This record gives sequence, structure tokens and C-alpha cells, in this order.
Amino acid sequence: MIGTNGTLMNSLTDLDALLDGIRNSDRAALGRAITLVESNASDDRKRAQELLTNLLPDTGGSRRIGISGVPGVGKSTFIESFGLQLVDEGYRVAVLAVDPSSSVSKGSILGDKTRMEKLAASEGAFIRPSPTGGSLGGVARKTREAILVCEAAGYDVVLVETVGVGQSETTVAEMVDFFLLLKLAGAGDELQGIKRGILELADLIAINKADGDNLSAAEFARAEFERALQILRPENEDGWRPKVVTSSGQTGAGLNEIWQIISEHHELLSTNGELEKQRKQQLLGWMWSLVNEGLRSAVREHPAVARTLAALEEDVLDGRTTPTSAAEQILNAFKR
Ligand code: GDP
Repeated sequence: MIGTNGTLMNSLTDLDALLDGIRNSDRAALGRAITLVESNASDDRKRAQELLTNLLPDTGGSRRIGISGVPGVGKSTFIESFGLQLVDEGYRVAVLAVDPSSSVSKGSILGDKTRMEKLAASEGAFIRPSPTGGSLGGVARKTREAILVCEAAGYDVVLVETVGVGQSETTVAEMVDFFLLLKLAGAGDELQGIKRGILELADLIAINKADGDNLSAAEFARAEFERALQILRPENEDGWRPKVVTSSGQTGAGLNEIWQIISEHHELLSTNGELEKQRKQQLLGWMWSLVNEGLRSAVREHPAVARTLAALEEDVLDGRTTPTSAAEQILNAFKR
């Protein structure tokens, strides 16, 4: 499929075949479409946009759910059990990921081990590891577009997994309808979680690994979080009250309840108009973040800016120029 010029596709027939394949829920076609969306080659970027524009009327039909938690909290075990349960109930489930660590040398957090083998083998599921390379913004764009492709292929639930690293949780929260945070009991970071502001993002906190000897500690942590949530924010802007439950990916405890809560949330936000509003805001936010990124590189690459940039940066660092004045000079050079 890789063309002589290094691009992934070279004829419109390929695009038509791909569109047909996606609409027929062919997993191989879905995989190829996401590879196209992830490609950085400019020809592929054009074709990917053509593909997405064609698919756009068929998108929007899934529950978009973000799932986050530190490495070891049990995300892959949880997603495997949860996904299999949903598949059993007749839903088609796609699992995507945003793993910014895979773009730096230390390797990926989410992609290294063999994960979710049973779910991966299930007919009703599609699992795609995080795109690699590039900035978090680049990874996010690719995952957002992969969500659309999965929706066009008829997936009912899209789970977007991420890790509690840097900005990745906020980035994922901006592309989903519902954000689930997995926590461990007694990790000593309950209050830190509150300080870090992550609770502002979470629609549901699940104290995970609530099984065996861990059960009472998990119950205790649940009560703590519930109290904290009551004090901190009685209600979200969208009318939803964040909840706390216990869960175990290993035993399956709490998974039914979690799906029920996600469904309640969906029902509420569909009825009060917030779901549509939130998705529209996300689309514009996405558009503007791409404009910002594009402008940033255009400014940096502009010949008149490029000529003076190093000197201006030095002037700022050495205290000869204020950042405001340097920024004005850069923008003026760009506008000229
Ligand atoms: P991830 O790094 O967040 O994806 O976590 P994993 O799903 O890979 O799990 C990390 C470790 O915790 C593994 O050794 C799992 O067997 C274990 N684990 C995961 N889920 C549970 C659970 O619900 N209960 C218990 N007791 N252990 C679990």
C-alpha cells in the first residue's frame, strides 16, 4: 500500500475502497484508515482529510469515554473486563490511547506490554495503541480523528486511555464526553489528586483493585473522596454531580455500576443539551488549537523572524529587552 513517493495511498480508488470498508465495519480497513490519519506525509494528510470529510455525516454516534490513572492502577485489566462486558451486551467497543511518553526516548507507558489480549481477539472490539512521535498536540489530533473513523465504522463505545502524565489528561478530557479516573486506595495521594486539579476533570472516580484484602481500604478511600467531592464542587457546569465508586477489573465488581453511571450521565447531558454544547465547544477548541499550532510554526519559520529570533531571545534572557517588547518585534516582523 505504500506508494513510490512514500505516501500510504496513491489513487482515489483506494480512498473509495477504504470508505466502503469502514462503512462495512471491516477492521482491516479501519486499521488502514487510522494509519492514514496518523501519517505525517503531506499527501496522506490531504487524503486523510478527504476521507474524514466523507465520513463526517456518519460520526458522533458513540459514547466517548476517557479513562486515566497512573501506571499500575489497573487500566488495561479494567478496560479488558469492561470492554468484554460491553461486547457481551452487544456493544461494539473501540479502545484508543493518548500516550505522550511514547514520543520521547523513554518509551511508551501504555504500549510496551501485550495488553488486553482477550479483548483484542474479540470480534466486537478494536484496539489501537497510541500514535507515536510528535508533540502531545500531534498525538491528540491523530486520536481525535481516529475517534471519528471508529464512529463511522459503527463503534458504539470509544474508550480513550491515557496516563496521569503532564497535560495528557486534560487533552483527553477535551475529546471525550465522560472522564473516568481510576485511583488506588491508600496510595497516599488522595489529597494530592485534589490539589492537582484532576478532580475537576473527572465525572467519575473509581477506587480500583477493590478486591480481596484491599476491599475495606477501597471502601474507606471511596468515602474520603466522596466527602472531598462534596466539599469541593457540589455540581459541574453541565449539571452532573461527579461520583465515586469502587471497582475491580480482576473480579468485575463495580463494572455494571460504572456503565450505569455513564449511561445516566449520557441521559442527563443529552436531555439538558450539554452533550451537544460540549461537543461543539470541543470542535471549536480543536480547530483553534490547530490554528495556534500552525501560527506558531509559521511565525518561527518566517524568514524575517528567523533572522532575529535568536538575538531577541538572548536580549530577553540577558535582561536587555522585556518579553512584551520582544514579542511585539517578532509579531511585527511576521506581519511585514
Ligand atoms: P495499568 O498499568 O494501569 O494498565 O495496570 P495493569 O492492568 O497492567 O495492572 C497492573 C497490575 O495490577 C497487574 O499486576 C495486574 O494483575 C494487577 N491488577 C490489575 N487490576 C487489578 C484488580 O482489579 N485487582 C487486583 N488485585 N489486581 C489488579
